[in-house]
Amino acid sequence: MENGTRLSIGQLIRDGERSFSFEFFPPRDEAGEEQLWQAIRELEPYRPTFVSVTYGAGGSSRDTTVRITGRIARETSMVPMGHLTCVGHTREELAGILADYAAAGVHNVLALRGDPKEGPRAPWTPTEGGLTHACELVDLAREQGLFSIGVAAFPEGHPSADSLQEDAEVLLAKQRAGAEFAITDMVFRASDYAGLVERAGALGVEIPILPGIMPILNLRQVSRMAELSGREVPAELRERIEAHADDPTALRAEGIRIAAELCEDLLALGAPGLHFYTLNRSKATREIFAALRITV
Ligand code: FAD
Repeated sequence: MENGTRLSIGQLIRDGERSFSFEFFPPRDEAGEEQLWQAIRELEPYRPTFVSVTYGAGGSSRDTTVRITGRIARETSMVPMGHLTCVGHTREELAGILADYAAAGVHNVLALRGDPKEGPRAPWTPTEGGLTHACELVDLAREQGLFSIGVAAFPEGHPSADSLQEDAEVLLAKQRAGAEFAITDMVFRASDYAGLVERAGALGVEIPILPGIMPILNLRQVSRMAELSGREVPAELRERIEAHADDPTALRAEGIRIAAELCEDLLALGAPGLHFYTLNRSKATREIFAALRITV
């Protein structure tokens, strides 16, 4: 099947009106894989600009991520992007994984540093013979000449950046190294995204920055994820969710409403698209799309 996997996501975002994309993670077992493929098939009719598959924390999912993205390239109509992190890999290994992606028909890659195996708050030590910053992975992927390259960005700054200014400078360095687009960590407030775009733009960052969207359907889970990236769920969101603590249906509906409002605000600010963290389920994303009146 021709699915245009050679299409460059950077080019698609530049050419298209608005980009919609969905992120999945590599399943751990057969049941997880079935759930993933169900979500992929249910979201395919929305004709996303691209879909992406994460690289397991601690560099743990090399084979699965390459295999899943390759299958998306072969068996679906969607453009896949593979994530890749520097964790636990030498430069040669990273070059080999990039070659595996290209051989599997995957020509878009999200170049990341990743977090230490001990967790995102642990100090980063590069692997011997490996890379120190995501920028170097962007360089490596660009040298191969086979990829459109995306990078991570942080609406409230990366937790170990000394300042928001330094954080924006890192994004500029990624652009200079050859990144064509960026995707942000989960956005809580449209104003945080606007701040990032403004800081980066003032330094000369011109690549499109796609905001990452994850609805709060489980406050404890999202609070933990936020904590790991050195942030807090803003009080105003927490209050709206906690008001429905005793009613799971109402809590879910409120989480979807909050996400849809955020999407509308982000698009009104001029965001070039929306990137949805699906957690391998399609329902929440479909509900947000319905709230935004986006139909198949
Ligand atoms: P970098 O850009 O290297 O930044 C890391 C730190 O180093 C920052 O504090 C930065 O300010 C600093 N820094 C960078 N360059 C320099 C420099 N030249 N000089 C001095 N300081 C510098 N993790 C996974 O394990 N798998 C995934 O699939 C995955 N997908 C992600 C997708 C998105 C959209 C996002 C936002 C994050 C994702 N992550 C993933 C998490 C990511 O790996 C971590 O947030 C990690 O801590 C930072 O990665 P980075 O690519 O931004 O690293």
